[in-house]
Amino acid sequence: MKVAVISLFPEMFDAISRHGVSGRAFENGLIELRLFNPRNYADGPHQSVDGRPYGGGPGMVMMAEPLSRALADSKEWMGSTCHRVVYMSPQGKVFKQEQLKGFESSEGFILIAGRYEGVDERFIKQRVDEEWSIGDYVLSGGELPAMVVLDALIRIIPGALGHAQSAQEGSFSQGMLGHPQYTRPASFAGERVPAVLLSGNHEQVRLWRLKCSLKRTRDRRPELLEALVMDSEKKKILEAMGKDFDVNC
Ligand code: SAM
Repeated sequence: MKVAVISLFPEMFDAISRHGVSGRAFENGLIELRLFNPRNYADGPHQSVDGRPYGGGPGMVMMAEPLSRALADSKEWMGSTCHRVVYMSPQGKVFKQEQLKGFESSEGFILIAGRYEGVDERFIKQRVDEEWSIGDYVLSGGELPAMVVLDALIRIIPGALGHAQSAQEGSFSQGMLGHPQYTRPASFAGERVPAVLLSGNHEQVRLWRLKCSLKRTRDRRPELLEALVMDSEKKKILEAMGKDFDVNC
């Protein structure tokens, strides 16, 4: 998969391309990242990429021209593989795991990271397919949001995680929160790991984990349950929750 990112601070992406699971995905060629800096597409001796806002007000706005040229170049690099152009913006649709459906098998897309007071609206209207926000707060740039999206995407690319199961079982992959995790030692500060996890009984472990996922989702994010597609097993567990739900999660 090819991903192009348009950013004034391309070096920030070392954080994702050099470390951990995402670093390995780049190393193994599962994802190819190319950075396009609008400054390299700006006119004049100062290579300005920003201007004062029309109508007045504080700060600067990223100009449409350098961004458009950077975008054109990034599209050329992608060839026919470009899936979508996404501008990271606090005004966009709040990013959710489900938005990545289909992306893992797409061949490429372009992320745009804004700076200053944002981007000239005409660029957004004319060149951007979607705006994505990573939450209801304002950051000083779109680089961290773009990395958040990239990291979440990399985890679902087949072969990126050591265990494909992790991506299928983690929080949100099944529309609910993940189950609690434990590792050695079996006893920590007087608290033992739930006995079922040491039983070696895979079916009981699966059931315990499913129950804990459902309980956590109900307790912490009840709105997720409303959207959850219920099979008969989940329905039965949830019905029992009100009465004799004795799982120690
Ligand atoms: N003036 C803009 C507004 O009020 O909507 C905020 C601009 S912000 C300081 C600069 C850049 O950071 C934006 O262009 C965007 O790319 C990025 N950004 C900030 N917060 C974000 C968020 N929650 N999600 C995605 N991108 C964000």
